[in-house]
Amino acid sequence: MKKIFALILAALFCLSGIALADADKPELHMGTNANFPPYEYHEYVDDADTIVGIDAEVAAAICDYLGYTLVIDDMEFGAIITAVQTGKIDFGMAGMTVTDERKESVNFSDTYATGIQVIIVKEGSAITTADDLFAEGANHIIGVQESTTGDLYCTWDIEDEGLGTVDRYKNGADAVQALVTDKVDCVVIDNEPAKAFVAANEGLIILDTEYVTEDYAIAIAKENTELLEKVNEALKALTEDGTIPAIIEKYIPAEEAAE
Ligand code: GLN
Repeated sequence: MKKIFALILAALFCLSGIALADADKPELHMGTNANFPPYEYHEYVDDADTIVGIDAEVAAAICDYLGYTLVIDDMEFGAIITAVQTGKIDFGMAGMTVTDERKESVNFSDTYATGIQVIIVKEGSAITTADDLFAEGANHIIGVQESTTGDLYCTWDIEDEGLGTVDRYKNGADAVQALVTDKVDCVVIDNEPAKAFVAANEGLIILDTEYVTEDYAIAIAKENTELLEKVNEALKALTEDGTIPAIIEKYIPAEEAAE
């Protein structure tokens, strides 16, 4: 009996030792919008609602490399930059495109992935190429996710030019739902989430013509140059040792990406 008790006690010490070691690590808070598959989305893992995806796994690898515990804060995409600026989160990682405007507010890490703005329409749509959106006399309703580059480009190229209206949704899933229910004529969004949304909703297609190609990077507060350097060091090491390529391959298999 005593032996069993001692064993249980030893096991408990071991467990609490692991927990303590984890608790000792400082936290790094990542802000994201977990409605953007395959970069970040909710999935049940062991019955628990978990944020998974390329960004979630790359962030976990970076934190592991640097000795931090990763905490993911789910928020609206448009709130991420401000949350970085005000220190509410340590970094923003959300398939976020590097733009000159955003660079005025935050610093960006080195690039870890590429995105392309594409156009989703219903099968048989009158819109068959990107140019149809900018043609003289065009008057379409374009669905976008608020504050994304898709929103910015469509606002400048279409709405400001009097060539249509831009309807802004809180996330990509809502914009796609608006297309399914004919509230908008098309959705402009990043290519990988576009593929996931089209696979999940019958009767939608992605147009062959691409709109804009972009670089994704991690947003960090201007004054936190120490973290920026560390993150870049981690990105470099984790790219060189194959960790990041393997995470991307897991979510975007190469033969699929080539399609
Ligand atoms: N890449 C786009 C942007 O940075 C969309 C990102 C997103 O919706 N998560 O604006």
